[in-house]
Amino acid sequence: MDWKIPKLEEFEDIIWKCTACGTCKVAYEYGPPTKFGEICPPGVEFGFEGFMSSKGKIAFARGILRGELEWDEDLLEAIYKCTVCAGCQAQCQLDHKPFIPEVIEAMRRKAVEEGVGPLPPHKNLVQSMKNYNNPYQGPRRLRTDWARPFKKAKRPIKDINKEPAPILLFVGCTGAFNAPARVIPQATASIFQKLGLDFGILGENEICCGSTAMRIGDADEFKRVAESNLQLFHRLRDERGVNTIVTSCAGCYRAIKKDYSLSSDYEDLLDGIRVVHTVQLLYELFKEGKMRFTEDLPMKVTYHDPCHTGRHLTKFIIDEDGSQLWKGAYIDTDESECLYDIPRELLQAIPGVDFVEMERIRANSFCCGGGGGVMTAFGEWASKNAAKRIEEGMATGAEHMVSTCPFCHYNLNQGSTLIGSNMKLYDLVELIDKALPPVD
Ligand code: SF4
Ligand code: SF4
Repeated sequence: MDWKIPKLEEFEDIIWKCTACGTCKVAYEYGPPTKFGEICPPGVEFGFEGFMSSKGKIAFARGILRGELEWDEDLLEAIYKCTVCAGCQAQCQLDHKPFIPEVIEAMRRKAVEEGVGPLPPHKNLVQSMKNYNNPYQGPRRLRTDWARPFKKAKRPIKDINKEPAPILLFVGCTGAFNAPARVIPQATASIFQKLGLDFGILGENEICCGSTAMRIGDADEFKRVAESNLQLFHRLRDERGVNTIVTSCAGCYRAIKKDYSLSSDYEDLLDGIRVVHTVQLLYELFKEGKMRFTEDLPMKVTYHDPCHTGRHLTKFIIDEDGSQLWKGAYIDTDESECLYDIPRELLQAIPGVDFVEMERIRANSFCCGGGGGVMTAFGEWASKNAAKRIEEGMATGAEHMVSTCPFCHYNLNQGSTLIGSNMKLYDLVELIDKALPPVD
């Protein structure tokens, strides 16, 4: 399978377009009233080297390409002190805007190719993927632990390896192996059962989507699992009648939808298969009147946009032929695939829910602070970032925060614990499950 995963060298022209203006240091909203706030977790924590701008990551990319910077521990740490949240990308308005997270990941890929990266904790993660097909060193048999209550309640979930079903629920490694996040696949499957959807899971045969490997720059490990998954999805279409892959994991969703599309065989292998996040599927059913909330959930909540269902899905319009501005110019963005409105609409449709927004939302959302391999390599700092987001949520007067990502679920709850907050991070599916009538 051929992959179009760009090398740092391919961004040679792009990286010189940064004018070091520093716009990417702050999230703006041009009011009135004008609002602004921090956007880059490492920029705030580590100063110049954290930010994309000025003497930050773009300067490292130039130095690496010109051969002026030697790989040493400090440089390696600096390029991995980034959650790849794309917050800087949302702020920058110059021609290299569409490629900013790619430049960061391409630096990491170069470090891995040259045998110096990733960081030691990431190497353990990659080894775990090679040994166990997941980044959590979880034996296969634990992958279905979350589904045990369903078996016990005599509502077993279909094993798609054995039985046909049009919907494949791709659980993801965090929902399967991270004990506090298991409530997410549990709530998802419970909702699907309540709605009478015909769905199945891969169970012990599910393997990692490869998102983490891609974010830390190990393209080979990413390709290994991605190719296996793409071929499996294709077989499931032909042999089990799968026409929809649904996941409650923002990372898996981004990987299958966007990273996998870098494969030359993507369209052929996924022909006839729709890839959706759970909230998209539920929103459609809600709009069709097939999902009705009956239970009251009196709670005041705010919503955290995961980077991977938000700005990572922004499409950039580039003047390819120079007909509108000049060749290669960035001219506009298309946010139609970003899941900004759907979770908010669903949340506000739940009876009793009082919804309130934080200051930094949608494309200006402040990352949970754990993505891009940060939670693995810099766990304490990841929790500290998450605590900042929790404080922002608390400032709205909300009791709890809601999101749509198992990774944000885990990290934001860690942040809340760190500062002794009572604010809990719920996944939207947890609330939806509670708001639906119980099974007979
Ligand atoms: S990345 Fe964009 S916003 Fe940031 S300093 Fe460079 S040109 Fe300015
Ligand atoms: S991707 Fe996020 S963490 Fe990385 S430099 Fe940009 S704003 Fe900072």
